[in-house]
Amino acid sequence: MSGHLVVPPVFNTGETEHLGLAGSIPVHLRQVCVREDVGVAQSDPRRTVPRTDVLMAHPDLVAAVARHGAATVKTAVRSAQSRARSGEIAAGDVVAAAREALPTRSTTLRPLLNATGVVVHTNIGRAPLSDAAVDAVVAAAAYVDVEYDIATGARARRGRGTLEALRSAVPAAGDALVVNNGAAALVLATTALAAGQDVLVSRGEMVEIGDGFRLPDLVASTGARLREVGTTNRTRLSDYAAALGPDTGCILKVHPSNFRVDGFTSAASVRELATLGAPVVVDIGSGLLRPDPMLPDEPDATTALADGATVVTASGDKLLGGPQAGLVLGEAATVERLRRHPLARAVRVDKLTLAALEATLRGPAPPVADYLHVDLDRLRSRTERLAAATGGEVVPVEGRVGGGGAPGLPLPGWAVALPEDCAKRLRRGETAVVARVERGRCLVDLRCVPPERDADVERAVLAARDVDHPSGA
Ligand SMILES: *Cc1c(COP(=O)(O)O)cnc(C)c1O
Repeated sequence: MSGHLVVPPVFNTGETEHLGLAGSIPVHLRQVCVREDVGVAQSDPRRTVPRTDVLMAHPDLVAAVARHGAATVKTAVRSAQSRARSGEIAAGDVVAAAREALPTRSTTLRPLLNATGVVVHTNIGRAPLSDAAVDAVVAAAAYVDVEYDIATGARARRGRGTLEALRSAVPAAGDALVVNNGAAALVLATTALAAGQDVLVSRGEMVEIGDGFRLPDLVASTGARLREVGTTNRTRLSDYAAALGPDTGCILKVHPSNFRVDGFTSAASVRELATLGAPVVVDIGSGLLRPDPMLPDEPDATTALADGATVVTASGDKLLGGPQAGLVLGEAATVERLRRHPLARAVRVDKLTLAALEATLRGPAPPVADYLHVDLDRLRSRTERLAAATGGEVVPVEGRVGGGGAPGLPLPGWAVALPEDCAKRLRRGETAVVARVERGRCLVDLRCVPPERDADVERAVLAARDVDHPSGA
């Protein structure tokens, strides 16, 4: 192989197939002569390149078609053929070159290791699924009884197992509904309860949730009128009461999940809002179903419902640690009203999501929960091992929940500090590792790395550092 690489294209004729074996300078020189003496016609590499149909019948490529599809394999074959025609590779290497050009995965999405210490990171896919949830997705990928009763052969309630799991996880909810994402849950709730009417929302909760996406715009897009009450830092129950009227569709309470207002502040509680008589929609954001002592300021569905929320909306792929989904939990009659709204069909969730969500709710704790509640002694010893193996330095760091949960709450831990430019090489390495860059250092935080992948991180760091010390062992 390396023999082929060093040979300039013009030398590589059909006859020089075994150049790599000969691989000596005299052979190369002789071929320059051959080419000059005999001319292009006889050594024209185009004549020796096998035809597409011949190549596609090669057992390796037949197998590749089963995995990648004919179109992808044909594209790889054509590109290998044209490399052979130009003399860049030998005609006999076309099959191997086509095979190498095939993607290693059936998606362009690249798996990566999260060494940022940010547990729920929107840019890298928020929550990683548990093995149980992955199994469920694979099972659901085939024909399944998602909306079908096998016993009777009749149509059944879509995703009933998932809804049952959600109701048992939150007994305070009379009923549950699952839609595409948290934003869809909120749109559905405000549309069904307040289209053409007022939605009362505190000025302190008019939030942008990321990528320029603003909740007030979202609510306004449903045809509901947003009625702001109170001020940015203080909103009292009396502000809501003053705005309340026959045109009120619902009161909306939004958890400002990515920022915090400190100082002279006040807000009306769900319990207070529930006394006003209008339906209260509480967007808790992160999907915590029950209180978590580690996240004391993070609202949860059970508490909000116990406090009198009519419906709670949340995401499935933040602190719940499941697939992207929007959860609606609440009073049975109101959830039913949402379910029957025509918009519900447009934000309907697919079977893969239903499967992953059910496994997340019923199965073992998902990775997000493990990373959040990581054993700090174990994290420290894993970090020390990595530092010792790679010549980095153990430093204390503060991880983050990220992705719209527990703003400002630090997650104390440790990381291996490396020179800043390692971050780029770690990202681009064979196993992509995304580290955090902070104050001129590259910090490799193992909190969100599955412990069985520590060896991969170590290899990646050694490879990234190797560039600095090309001769070092
Ligand atoms: C994240 C978030 C949303 C949006 O949820 P998605 O699942 O991303 O659509 C809405 N409201 C709050 C408070 C959030 O934190």
